[in-house]
Amino acid sequence: MPPYLLGLRLGGRRVLVVGGGRVAQRRVPALLAAGADVVLVAPEITPSLEDLVSTDAGTAGAAAGGEIAAAEAGPRPARDRGAGGRLTWLRRAYEKGDCRGAWLVQAVTDDAKVNAAVAAEAEAARVWCVRADDADASAAWTPAAGTVGETTVGVLAGGDPRRAAGIRDAVVDGLRDATLEARHSRHKPVGVALVGGGPGDPGLITVRGRQLLAQADVVVTDRLAPRELLDELPADVEVVDAAKIPYGRTVTQDRINDYLVEHVRQGRFVVRLKGGDPFVFGRGAEEVLHCAKHGIPVTVVPGITSAVAAPSAAGIPVTHRGVTQEFHVVSAHVAPGDPASTVDWPALGRAQGTLVLLMAVERITLIADALMRYGRSPDTPVAVVQDGTLPGQRTLSATLGTVAAEMDAAGVRPPAIVVVGDVVNVAREIDTIRADMGRDP
Ligand code: SAH
Repeated sequence: MPPYLLGLRLGGRRVLVVGGGRVAQRRVPALLAAGADVVLVAPEITPSLEDLVSTDAGTAGAAAGGEIAAAEAGPRPARDRGAGGRLTWLRRAYEKGDCRGAWLVQAVTDDAKVNAAVAAEAEAARVWCVRADDADASAAWTPAAGTVGETTVGVLAGGDPRRAAGIRDAVVDGLRDATLEARHSRHKPVGVALVGGGPGDPGLITVRGRQLLAQADVVVTDRLAPRELLDELPADVEVVDAAKIPYGRTVTQDRINDYLVEHVRQGRFVVRLKGGDPFVFGRGAEEVLHCAKHGIPVTVVPGITSAVAAPSAAGIPVTHRGVTQEFHVVSAHVAPGDPASTVDWPALGRAQGTLVLLMAVERITLIADALMRYGRSPDTPVAVVQDGTLPGQRTLSATLGTVAAEMDAAGVRPPAIVVVGDVVNVAREIDTIRADMGRDP
């Protein structure tokens, strides 16, 4: 027969635990978290159980009399209940009569005879008793449990505690990242979520971003958004490549904007997934403005920008004490000197801080020349990180004087980040230390 699963609300109710070893150490914190008045009967208990013993209400430490009544010194104020239980330790062996007054009993000593005696007393008194040593002889079983927010799950796997814990972990993980509740949850979001997908590794999206992605009806994605995340979506989620939206006006951005509005009007929740952070050279704000004009609610979920993550993944700190107190993030999609450029290249040439250049691959010759012309030394260390955080990540090391030729020779392709400044040496220093330690254990 399958067991009948209950959620016991133990606030302020007495639970007797007989035994102070490893099993008690696992069970007591959960009972206290449920607000129970736990009475622990054992000649000895583990140090972590000792830490949990309440020192309030005059029943400090081991109750002297050894009588259960001693545990009752001072009734617990009602307002205390539910705010976490309390633990009283009776430092002695189990005695017949200890089950009196308990709503629940845990027989968790390492002596089967004692457990059997406790269970027999509980049975006679019609109190539920859990035996840790003998599932068949136990009136009740403890499920593997976990709580996420307001949801508590309990799993019994036919007496196989390992399997139960494994299933519990899977359910808890699924609740945490919302892949479980997904699209059928009560709190289905509306409108558009503009989600930063991070630099490429699917593990580097935020928890919020993943939750929303799991609830999407439609996902409009960019070339740089982490592709692997899309493979996890249920088959009926519409995934649209923003570059290939098949209708509308000619300018791609207008088409994307119209597409977002149209789908939300059809009652769908749309996730607009972008690489990195949506507001760092991602045109995210244009989409937010467009939705705002059409009365569409938008949630913006920040992302880890490649501007910091790609250097970081390559071991390059964008700031370092004693080296630089600033880093400048620059879009180099327009070359220095181009009338369309709004970047103050002379100032960047004079500045001492780290430069992080995005979209610079095709224009690196012009960029390096400009920086040297405006004051940076040709010896300034430079690193180029291609496909940062992705399986194909690679780093090229150069100087401002050599970087253009070296990138050309190495065949560096976008997406890549160019980091200019002395912080690049910090990464080299770390590498050298590691290499030395490898050689010289
Ligand atoms: N919103 C994005 C940036 C978009 S601009 C973000 O915050 O990361 C596109 C540029 O970002 C690329 O040309 C490249 O310079 C950089 N980039 C994006 N992902 C990258 C990655 N995984 N590795 C290296 N550079 C990357």
